[in-house]
Amino acid sequence: MASIEFWGGLGVIGSSKIMITDGDDRVLLDIGLDIPSGANLFRAPVRIRPERELADRLRVGGAPALPGVYDPAFLRPGDPLGDPVGDPAATRIFVSHPHIDHVGLAGWVRPEIGVYAHTDAVDLLDALRANGLGLPGGDPAWRRLSAGEVVEVGAMTVQCILVDHDVPGACGYLVRTGDGVLAYTGDIRFHGRRPELSEAFVEAVRGADVLVTEGTTLSFTPPEGPPRTASTKASLSSGRRPWKRMSPV
Ligand SMILES: [Zn+2]
Repeated sequence: MASIEFWGGLGVIGSSKIMITDGDDRVLLDIGLDIPSGANLFRAPVRIRPERELADRLRVGGAPALPGVYDPAFLRPGDPLGDPVGDPAATRIFVSHPHIDHVGLAGWVRPEIGVYAHTDAVDLLDALRANGLGLPGGDPAWRRLSAGEVVEVGAMTVQCILVDHDVPGACGYLVRTGDGVLAYTGDIRFHGRRPELSEAFVEAVRGADVLVTEGTTLSFTPPEGPPRTASTKASLSSGRRPWKRMSPV
């Protein structure tokens, strides 16, 4: 029986981590850094202890205790998850796009676990790393995906399908399990530069049994002024910030 577990992304912005288990095989969709709604203990003036950051995050709830996912090299006996559990050979991680709330914990993943992202997303992450802005813990050995590519994870398959978002290499995933099909949008928009990608994603996942998406602004009171879906030109002329400069989520 396949199961879906949410290890983040509920009641918060981003922090997505969706674990799909089918038999002995696991697919983790996104592995975002947790962005706390209250005090953030990992921002200045607090000084992060890089060699202990994972353990510190696990201890204060700044990272979820994902079993069998983190590299024991970052942990010591007595730390949360300091003893290896789970079978990393049966786990694969698929990142939807290179925003920190979807990829920020990937640097602490066990090296035996394959970590996948679209090739354009990997290019961006490589460029960030080359400029001293790599992921905490160090970037994993990325496995590059092309649009439409299907990866087998035991009896499951995971397909990379491009979507439009405000960062290169954004994609969603279609996960086929023995019990049903799950579609995950990642962060998706229909008002940006390439809405046809998002429209094609919708068509590609039509008929899925489960849809997982992020509804960051669904419950917010709409801001006053012109609709935020106005074109960049209209936004600029009205004095509002254009979409492409708004904070990514
Ligand atoms: Zn995003």
